[in-house]
Amino acid sequence: TSFAHFGFDEQLMHQIRKSEYTQPTPIQCQGVPIALSGRDMIGIAKTGSGKTAAFIWPMLVHIMDQKELEAGEGPIAVIVCPTRELCQQIHAECKRFGKAYSLRSVAVYGGGSMWEQAKALQEGAEIVVCTPGRLIDHVKKKATSLQRVTYLVYDEADRMFDMGFGGLVFSVATFRKKIERLARDILVDPIRVVQ
Ligand code: AMP
Repeated sequence: TSFAHFGFDEQLMHQIRKSEYTQPTPIQCQGVPIALSGRDMIGIAKTGSGKTAAFIWPMLVHIMDQKELEAGEGPIAVIVCPTRELCQQIHAECKRFGKAYSLRSVAVYGGGSMWEQAKALQEGAEIVVCTPGRLIDHVKKKATSLQRVTYLVYDEADRMFDMGFGGLVFSVATFRKKIERLARDILVDPIRVVQ
């Protein structure tokens, strides 16, 4: 597979070329077409495999499709991850590739300023990268709304569960379900991609 197979437009290809990636990684070759097709997916791949871009590129395409349909407030895509560092890294990649379409990303994580994050959310962003507890705080305070979200990513979902975030995200959970159980509950006929 080459990047040309994904059918990305010139604006996105331009940002990818600027990154000097010569060819897609295996998780990108397998995962990008599935995510572009709109199917739910469970991706199992190591850090360093290029998994972040594998969910960011189809996300950008989805947002551009959705933006015209769904005018309104709040993010279209939400990426939930376990730590502040990961939040900042993913946010940086969202900004880098999101430039293709002038899309805005906001990072909200525990330990950062509530006020500054709320201000950024209220200014508007199509993409929110967050840790789970902090996202819930902002939604409770009505700094943002999730009604427009149609693209949801749990990055390092296994680690989030190890850290006990499970009950926070899914308030119905009074005990820790295994990740596969949960995936079966919330995903619709997911395709598994294992690297
Ligand atoms: P990740 O697995 O998402 O943490 O990505 C690991 C590193 O690989 C990051 O520094 C990316 O910028 C880089 N990367 C992502 N996709 C590609 C690609 N197709 N070719 C070369 N490097 C890439």
